[in-house]
Amino acid sequence: MERVLSRGLKHTVESGTSISGPAHIGNACDVLYAEAVCREVRLRGGEAISIWVADDLDPLDSIPYPLPEDELKKYLGKPYINIPDPYRCCQSWAQHFTLEFVNSLERMGLEPIVKSGYSMYRDGTYLPYIRLSLREADKIKELLRRISGMHKPRAWLPYMPICANCGNIATTLAYGYEGDKVLYGCELDVGYAKGCGYRGEVDVKLGQGKLQWRVEWAARWSAFGVTVEPFGKEHAAAGGSYDTSSVIVREVFKGEPPIPLIYEHVMINGRKMSKSKGNILTPRQWFEVAPPETLRFFFFRVYPAKHKDLRMNEVPRLVEEFERAERIYYGVDELVDEKVNVHLKRSYELSIIGKPAPTLPIRLPYDLAVTLIQVYRDITLEKVIDVLKRTGRLYRDLTADEVEALKLRLRQAEAWLKKYAPETVKFKLLDDVSRVKNLLTDKQKEALMKVASILKGGDWLPRELNTKFFEVSRSLGLPPPSFFEAAYLTLIGATSGPWLANFVLALGKDFVAKRFEEAAS
Ligand SMILES: [Zn+2]
Ligand SMILES: [Zn+2]
Repeated sequence: MERVLSRGLKHTVESGTSISGPAHIGNACDVLYAEAVCREVRLRGGEAISIWVADDLDPLDSIPYPLPEDELKKYLGKPYINIPDPYRCCQSWAQHFTLEFVNSLERMGLEPIVKSGYSMYRDGTYLPYIRLSLREADKIKELLRRISGMHKPRAWLPYMPICANCGNIATTLAYGYEGDKVLYGCELDVGYAKGCGYRGEVDVKLGQGKLQWRVEWAARWSAFGVTVEPFGKEHAAAGGSYDTSSVIVREVFKGEPPIPLIYEHVMINGRKMSKSKGNILTPRQWFEVAPPETLRFFFFRVYPAKHKDLRMNEVPRLVEEFERAERIYYGVDELVDEKVNVHLKRSYELSIIGKPAPTLPIRLPYDLAVTLIQVYRDITLEKVIDVLKRTGRLYRDLTADEVEALKLRLRQAEAWLKKYAPETVKFKLLDDVSRVKNLLTDKQKEALMKVASILKGGDWLPRELNTKFFEVSRSLGLPPPSFFEAAYLTLIGATSGPWLANFVLALGKDFVAKRFEEAAS
């Protein structure tokens, strides 16, 4: 951050995404970091804007899962703006996936200035840089060779025209120019697409072509005066695109490269994301199971360069970590390590969308929601409020926002349970306790009886009840795990289950007391 501010108080932070299919949360990450930089600059009295560019003139180089390969392979090598929308609701592939991504960004509280690469090639934004690149083609070729070891043909220009015959942009080689007209042959074989042999010319003012990626990146930095750019570490390798574009921007466009913010790509369930293999997670898939703030928190709680693995079977824990940070932020909870407290407060602040609520929001813990929907079919809001009361979580009236959040939490927990929950959190209430009765030892039965009478004897908060479980077990010389095992056997016929104190209160203490007595009799 100090490095950013040393470059002044006015900043343009850029991010960009190739519109190669459904954008995943890794793509959203770019924009997330960009906006975090902007916030920080503004916080320190500066001005900052975030620009996001849809790279919609790039060629389709693989068919993202699960789109039909047979139907779409004829578009390989063509620019996204000229491929029909596979869902047939928008004008093009580019428009469909751009809209989808921008919508997801909005839901994440991200509203960068959205630019289309294609439009920028038509409205003149890139024009001075195209002309300069054509004139300086030999110099660029030499820089590409020197910095990144790329060898280009003798007659070569850093411009990729769209072939007027076959429509490919990936297979054309520009070899000469006259004024704004670029001459090309459609003759390259790029593996996923092959040139058709056509020779033609194209006017660079019409947007029927684009600059080669590393030159384009440099042109964009110059055109917008980009000062900071977040990107994944694959661009940051020695001789990689950042290195090359930096030299091009300095030596050809006479500009300065932005300060890089290099981040480690997020993994999903322990694996790298891959569009063609279908191992991706889109923001929308996340919103089905958890609020957008929690996704922001997942990224902001660690430094960008740190390893991150988003495991969908751990959503309840991730949400709980966010809510713990929330409690720390409102001073209701704190950890021993003051540095961690400060860090979590800061991460929380960055994660929330809009202004923080005036007081700590009342929430239904995710794991409790998961328990409730398994205990009660068609659970109602009244029931949830009742459970919140019983577990000591309702100390004032709920606001309208909190009520909405409760309903949403139930829907999200249900979706998570269906799609991602490990078998270990799934359970069914036991109908008939006689099935497990003979599995219990005398000591266990004795403990269940004692706990039953404690339950009937008063109202308990979850923590108090939890303490009682341990006290009872120890007083009987029974190891506490043995007591918990007996309780779960009696309730759900398994040896483990949801956190018992919450579980008992969610089921209703009288119901549980009766059940324990039945099992122990
Ligand atoms: Zn569409
Ligand atoms: Zn062609």
